Amino acid sequence: MIKKFIRKILGVKDERDPTEPVILGPDEHGIDPKLLSSNAIRVTQTLQEAGFKAFVVGGAVRDLLLGVKPKDFDIATDATPEEVKKLFRRAFIIGRRFQIVHVMFGQDLLEVTTFRGRGSDNAPKDEHGRVLRDNNFGPQHEDAERRDFTINAMYYDPATQTVLDYHGGIEDIRAKILRIIGQPEARYREDPVRMLRVVRFAAKLQFTIEPATRAPIPVMAPLINNVPAARVFDEMLKLLMSGHALACLKELRSSGLHHGLLPLLDVVLEQPIGMKFVTLALDSTDARVRAGKGVSPGFLFASLLWHQVLEKWNAYRAAGEAPIPALHLAADDVLDNQTDKLALQRRIATDMRDIWAMQPRFERRNGKAPYKLLEHPRFRAGFDFLLLRCESGELDAEVGHWWTTFYAGDVAERERLVNAARETAPAAAKKRPRRRGPRKTGEGEAMGSAAADQGAAGE
Ligand code: ATP
Ligand code: MG
Repeated sequence: MIKKFIRKILGVKDERDPTEPVILGPDEHGIDPKLLSSNAIRVTQTLQEAGFKAFVVGGAVRDLLLGVKPKDFDIATDATPEEVKKLFRRAFIIGRRFQIVHVMFGQDLLEVTTFRGRGSDNAPKDEHGRVLRDNNFGPQHEDAERRDFTINAMYYDPATQTVLDYHGGIEDIRAKILRIIGQPEARYREDPVRMLRVVRFAAKLQFTIEPATRAPIPVMAPLINNVPAARVFDEMLKLLMSGHALACLKELRSSGLHHGLLPLLDVVLEQPIGMKFVTLALDSTDARVRAGKGVSPGFLFASLLWHQVLEKWNAYRAAGEAPIPALHLAADDVLDNQTDKLALQRRIATDMRDIWAMQPRFERRNGKAPYKLLEHPRFRAGFDFLLLRCESGELDAEVGHWWTTFYAGDVAERERLVNAARETAPAAAKKRPRRRGPRKTGEGEAMGSAAADQGAAGE
């Protein structure tokens, strides 16, 4: 009754009162309660039973409204982080810039945030206006105002099955429009990462960017340079793992967001030769993500930067360096150049280097070498990478076929393949420069000129 009354009043108003939400019942929002996780319900219920307000919020509500099962659930409440922590057995307060509580149930993690208040006028900022820290709590309508886009600023209460919408998010979701809340320039200045988020959501949801939301981006893009590299990296990773990486990159380009900002994207988007490789890599990443399969960031970045490595590898070899040291020098150059701005984590950089360093080893197909390579802990990633190289036309498809059969083959099949490779190897070897020098012991069984050559090239 009361809700209907409020809606009626709101309906006749010309302008929406931003402190009063539009409240939608199940018939109006059409959310399927089965898409909710039991843990999300558990958290909101526990908080509500303790006398607090609690809602599912943000991306999860957006996904529920789109009929998509959310990949994670964020909860918003008027309980303080300390109050939240007390209510759950495994709960941890984390974060500095924004304090939040991680509530764990087994492997499942839910983020619980306390409603943020306006107060960002007083929050500490950097010299460009970027908000550095902000833990002012406030009423729910202020929390809604602080969120980025109208479609990300809705609250769902599982107990009453109602959606609270403060900024016309429902209408925008139906019209497939991405609209920033508040004054776009001011919102990008507070947090330039929002510009990357616009691009990601537009590509992922296939929504149109509302003109006023889009207009300032090309001009304000350089502000991203002031954001800590680790945060930009996180956002780039989300973008590349969104299942719509190719669309995101195209959108970044058309929004004027790549040039000179992220060296990675300059490399990826402005080198015609590597484009086929990158397109294939991103296509397969997108397909994997959409099929619910895991994607390794190391593989992804190794692919994006491969042609840069290849170019430098060739240059070092042309300058007289032996193939393997040349490859490592090339990898060093590329990784050093990227880590400055992109903050590639060490674990990811190690994976990238492993994948790259494995590549020449795929050319050794005689003796014990292929069997040794099979035992490499990252063989699968290296092999997938090899297939991409073949598919892009960089390598002869025959190499890929050989390895595919070898990988799948039984003992006899593998032996046959290795013997066949031995017969063809000497001819291939003539093309490659031979390197004189001490050979590692233990490779004495290598036979023929190709084997000698490749033995020297071994790691
Ligand atoms: P995803 O599907 O990628 O998780 P999401 O919308 O849930 O999308 P999160 O990064 O998980 O994105 O953020 C959760 C919510 O927090 C958002 O929906 C939005 O309301 C708010 N939010 C996140 N980042 C920002 C930001 N930079 N500025 C303002 N609000 C933000
Ligand atoms: Mg989320």
